[in-house]
Amino acid sequence: MKQETIALHGGYDFDKEANACAVPIYQTAAYLFRDAEHGANLFALKEEGNIYTRLGNPTTSVLEERVRMLEGGTACVAVATGQAATTYAIMALASSGDEIISSTNVYGGTYSLFSHTLKNYGITTRFVSSTDPREYKKSITEKTKCIFIESLPNPSLTILDYKEIAKIAEEAHIPLIVDNTVPTPYLHKPKDYGAHIVVHSLTKYMAGHGTTLAGAIVDLGTFDWKSSNIKSMTEPDMGYHGLVFADAFENYKDMGNSAFAYKVRLDLLRDMGGALSPMSAFLVLMGIETLHLRMPCHSNNAKKLASYLIKHPKISWVNYPGIKETTDENTYNLAKEYFKLDENSEPMVSGLLAFGIKGGRQSGAKFIDNVSIIRSLVNLGDAKSIATHPASTTHSQLTEEELKMSGVGEDLIRFSVGIENIDDIIEDIDNSLKKV
Ligand SMILES: *Cc1c(COP(=O)(O)O)cnc(C)c1O
Repeated sequence: MKQETIALHGGYDFDKEANACAVPIYQTAAYLFRDAEHGANLFALKEEGNIYTRLGNPTTSVLEERVRMLEGGTACVAVATGQAATTYAIMALASSGDEIISSTNVYGGTYSLFSHTLKNYGITTRFVSSTDPREYKKSITEKTKCIFIESLPNPSLTILDYKEIAKIAEEAHIPLIVDNTVPTPYLHKPKDYGAHIVVHSLTKYMAGHGTTLAGAIVDLGTFDWKSSNIKSMTEPDMGYHGLVFADAFENYKDMGNSAFAYKVRLDLLRDMGGALSPMSAFLVLMGIETLHLRMPCHSNNAKKLASYLIKHPKISWVNYPGIKETTDENTYNLAKEYFKLDENSEPMVSGLLAFGIKGGRQSGAKFIDNVSIIRSLVNLGDAKSIATHPASTTHSQLTEEELKMSGVGEDLIRFSVGIENIDDIIEDIDNSLKKV
């Protein structure tokens, strides 16, 4: 199946109980055992089946399968939020005393997770601010358990030439984790560039309507755990009857290597409990059905908006990697190499753009206060247009230096262009800028 068809049918044939065409919402906490032996077999992993919704749910399984297929992975675990996905992905690999490497160009919540919260649990992050892959190589030590980057960093939009980073990771026997939230697998597939694991905030473009929080971890099945020094995968897991994940799920059900996804589900999800609710899984599935219609529309609208903004006298700068006028040549070429192209062979890079209004923080605030159709809130990837001022909201806990390192200036407005008629959005912006 092609991406567009997967978006509609992936993971679901029909409901064998009632012949329901839509995916049923299995709103249940637990599942009956046929008898004591059945229950015992399920717990011992001798038989597949449902036990308790924290570990798995039939509605959520459809979502997991659909996301797995879209990313071209071997297995997927859905969780309650994007932050839970990142947290579990790291905790499945690293523990106290270990290190990870991360780009500084990451989502604000991810930055604080790495620089503060995980640090308090003994996991140290070495941040790399350069886009030069060699800087990632220099940060690798014998304690490094993974490299973490975003495929389209939110909000700096600095595209990394990360196939080179993937090669470095491969040589060092450490996995590369890519947060693919902003492009979605419709515009960009990390597997094609050497990634080993994908994490998602499904809250954004995947769900697509600003209704639901959700996250996912996709095992791309491309990492050779056995030749790594990642003990959580290669040594007996005493939390699971001494199971060695790298061995037990090496080619599970002929799907290829899904050891990482099972580690996340059987240890992290079981013990830390950030499970997705079946109702939320259903809402994300509804959103994904139109992913292939929304992403080109978001990208097209963003191109038109970027072209308009760059010519406006009150705008000091515009950052959108989808057109030459609003990015540098290198980034534009990377956008063409890494992202899906439209019918004019121009890259489609989502509806996320950033710009600065002359006059800094005050002008930014004034602009936000005077838009009418455009919503002022902290989210992105909604079908409706959204404007955010990160310095006073999403990134407000960061110090001035950290703001600089994350590529967030005081005047930066992050804009998530919706799928409205772009002329209405431009008119709204035009009216608001008149008041600045
Ligand atoms: C929003 C976001 C997250 C966090 O996702 P939640 O679902 O809000 O927890 C992680 N990464 C990126 C790139 C995001 O935009």
